[in-house]
Amino acid sequence: MRRPLFRDFAELCRALERTSSTTEKRELIAGFLKRLPQDEWKPFVLLLTGRVLPETGGRPLNVGYATIRKASSSRLKTLLPLPPPTISEVYSTLRAIARVSGSDVQRKRTEMLASLLSRLSDEERRYLIRSIGGEMRVGANIGLVLQALAEAGNVDPDVLRKAYLLCGDIGEVAERVARGEVSREALKPRLFTPVKPMLAASANTVEEALQLAGGRAAVEVKYDGIRVQIHVGGGGVRVFSRRLTDITENLPEVVDVVRERVRVREAILEGEVIAVDENGRPMPFQDLMKRFKRVKGFEQVARKIPVRLYLFDILYLDGSLLIDQPYHRRYEALASVVPPDLLAERIVTDSVEEAREFYRRAVESGHEGVMVKRLDAPYVMGVRGANWIKVKEVETIDAVIVGAEWGHGRRSGWLSDYYLAVYDPESDGYLIVGKTFKGLTDEEFEWITRKLLELKVADEGHRIWVRPEIVVEVAFNEIQRSRRYRSGFALRFARIVRFRLDKSPRDATTIQELRELYEKSELS
Ligand code: ATP
Repeated sequence: MRRPLFRDFAELCRALERTSSTTEKRELIAGFLKRLPQDEWKPFVLLLTGRVLPETGGRPLNVGYATIRKASSSRLKTLLPLPPPTISEVYSTLRAIARVSGSDVQRKRTEMLASLLSRLSDEERRYLIRSIGGEMRVGANIGLVLQALAEAGNVDPDVLRKAYLLCGDIGEVAERVARGEVSREALKPRLFTPVKPMLAASANTVEEALQLAGGRAAVEVKYDGIRVQIHVGGGGVRVFSRRLTDITENLPEVVDVVRERVRVREAILEGEVIAVDENGRPMPFQDLMKRFKRVKGFEQVARKIPVRLYLFDILYLDGSLLIDQPYHRRYEALASVVPPDLLAERIVTDSVEEAREFYRRAVESGHEGVMVKRLDAPYVMGVRGANWIKVKEVETIDAVIVGAEWGHGRRSGWLSDYYLAVYDPESDGYLIVGKTFKGLTDEEFEWITRKLLELKVADEGHRIWVRPEIVVEVAFNEIQRSRRYRSGFALRFARIVRFRLDKSPRDATTIQELRELYEKSELS
C-alpha cells in the first residue's frame, strides 16, 4: 500500500464537506480507512476528529493561534523543496511540536510548524489548522467515525462503541481495530480512566416507575449526594465524579472505607456519597458541596461534615467486565464483596403497595426519593434511559445561569436576579426559561456574585451576561408556554434549590426534556 499523503486527507475532507448525508460521509471515511496501511489508522482518525494528541493523558499540543499565525506568515528559505508530507508525518511532527521543551520553546515550535506548513497547499493548511484547533467542521463526529471504523474493520458497532467508552481514546480504538484486536471478549476497562455514568429517566409515581421497569424491579433509596465512580487496583483507590474529574483528595474517608472494607483486587464500583449529621441522618446536599468549594482549611471542614458511602453498582470485578451482565447479576457480584452497611438500601418487589411504602420511608428519613431499576438491564454507559427510573418528591430541572441583574435594597451590591436557561443540543446553545432571585443565602449571593463577574461576557449596566457555566437545580410551580423567551417556555415561581457543581452546562436539562415535562404536566 502506498503511504497516503496529507493531500489525500485534505481531499477526503473536501468530499466530506461537500455532502450532508451521514451515510455518504460514513462510506467515504470507511473507504479511506480500507485503503490505509494498518499503522496509519490511528494518525488518520486523530487528525480527522481534531484530537491529534490522545484525549486522555497526552500532553497538550501547546500551539496557540498566535503561533499558527506567525508560522503561516513566515517564509522559509529551503535549499531543496521537501516532498509533500504523508499523513503520519504530519501527525508525528505535531506530536514532536507538543514535546518541545527547554528554552526558547515558542520559537522552536513556530519554526517546526512553519516548516510543516511550507510543504502544504492552502487547502491542506486550512484543514491542518482546523484539526489543530480541535474543530474539523466536516461532520466527522466521534459517533460517525466509530461507525466507519466498525464498517472498515468489520467489527460489531456496539462492541466498538463500548471499546471507545471504556478507554475514551478514539486513536487507540482505531489502532486496535486495525490490528484486529477488538472483540466482545477483549473488551476491557482501563482502571483509573472513568467511564461515563449510566443515567436515569424519571416518573411521577412509584407505580408508573414500577410499570416502566417491567413490573418486578429493584427499588432503592435515591440518596441526595454526589455520584462517585470508584476505581480500585494495584493497591490504589481513586474516586471520580459524575463529570469524570478526580475527586479522591476531597473524599479521603471514602478511600479509607473502600480500602479497609471492600474485598477486591481490582474493581470499578459506583455509588453515592452523602453528608450525614452525628446521628447518621442525611444532611442537605449544599453541606456536602462545601467540601468541594473550600480548598484551604479543607481538613477542618471535612471533619465538620462527615460523609457516608452507599454503593449501588459494579462495572468490573477482578478481571471480569460486568457491564453486559443483567443488573441482578451485577448486584450479586457487588454484594459478594461489599459489607451490607455500605450497600444502598433496597427491596426487590412487584408490589406497588410495598414500593410505595418503601418510598414513603425513604423520604421520611430525609432522602430524595427512590430509584427503580430493571433487574435484567445491562449497564449502559453515558445514556439516560428507562432502565433506571427516579421518583422524587419535587420536580426540578437543572438550569444554567446565563445572565444576572444587580439587586436592590437588601440585595444591592450583589448580582441577585438570575437568568436561567436550558441546553439546546442542536445549536449547542442555551435558551432562557426564567428568572429568579429566590433560594440563596447571603453567603451564596456573595460567592455567586464573584463567580459571575469572572464569567462576564457583556455588561449592560444593570445587567450582565455570562459564559454559561454555573448549573443550578431549580424548583418551580409550573411550566408555562410563553412568548417572553425564545425558548417558548417560562417557569412560574422558579427558585434555586442548590448549586450543581458536579454538573457541566451540557449536562443541564435540555429544551427537549423541558418540552416533555411540559407535555406531561398538561396531561396530569
Ligand atoms: P438528579 O438531578 O435527580 O440528582 P442527575 O441528573 O444528577 O439526577 P439522574 O440520572 O437524573 O442524574 O439521577 C441519577 C442520580 O441519582 C445518579 O447520578 C446518582 O447520583 C443518584 N443516585 C442516588 N441514589 C442512587 C441509587 N440508589 N442508584 C442510582 N443512582 C442514585
